[in-house]
Amino acid sequence: MTAPVHKRILLKLSGEALMGDDAFGINRATIVRMVSEIKEITEMGVQVAIVIGGGNIFRGVAGGSVGMDRATADYMGMLATVMNALALADTMNNAGMTARVMSAINIDQVVEPYVRPKALQYLEEGKVVVFAAGTGNPFFTTDTAAALRGAEIGAEIVLKATKVDGVYTADPKKDPHATRYAKLSFDQAMQQNLGVMDAAAFALCRDQKLPIKVFSIFKAGGLKRVVMGEDEGTLVHV
Ligand code: UDP
Repeated sequence: MTAPVHKRILLKLSGEALMGDDAFGINRATIVRMVSEIKEITEMGVQVAIVIGGGNIFRGVAGGSVGMDRATADYMGMLATVMNALALADTMNNAGMTARVMSAINIDQVVEPYVRPKALQYLEEGKVVVFAAGTGNPFFTTDTAAALRGAEIGAEIVLKATKVDGVYTADPKKDPHATRYAKLSFDQAMQQNLGVMDAAAFALCRDQKLPIKVFSIFKAGGLKRVVMGEDEGTLVHV
């Protein structure tokens, strides 16, 4: 059997990825299926760290748009990611994996705080680390948290899980002639305004020479194909 091409990855899962076909919250069957995909790659020896979003529960921008103080709304959004992280870690533990949640906001009775050396130790031990509460700061997103934590833990790549299996020349739902890019440089993605990740996350990855792979988490075996280095998704490289 051939070996995975990545030893340590940072997987960014949006909150919406946990929602399945529901309009809100966490869909049990969806989270269980996602965990089985993640389990498969941990069994191949890949060290997995996850940054989870919160958009299935609350987004700061939504609170801001109805007159809430934006920073307060963003803190609510970060707390939503903690709920998702707990659900994800619980599902992983039920599946026989060992997962640890680390939060960027201190809520010691619920989860342990993010401490970088501890996170590195867990990864070395083969545990999956779920980073919750984004960067811990309002006005950021969990995409930025993914870039930040990815750089901090020395991940070889940030895997951005989306609904679409990569970056396309046009919206594949609207344009039947749209084709998927297998590879793109950071400069190309920027020049063509392809919106791979939000601007802060994209800039951080580019500066740190941390490649990004955009792929679909809903495609069975997609994550495995990505870590095996197969032609899956779109690679954004230096
Ligand atoms: N958030 C924040 N700072 C961070 C990360 C997230 O304030 O560093 C808040 C922000 O309000 C955001 C919400 O948490 O809307 C949920 O995160 P995000 O929108 O990135 O989740 P996703 O779209 O990936 O589900």
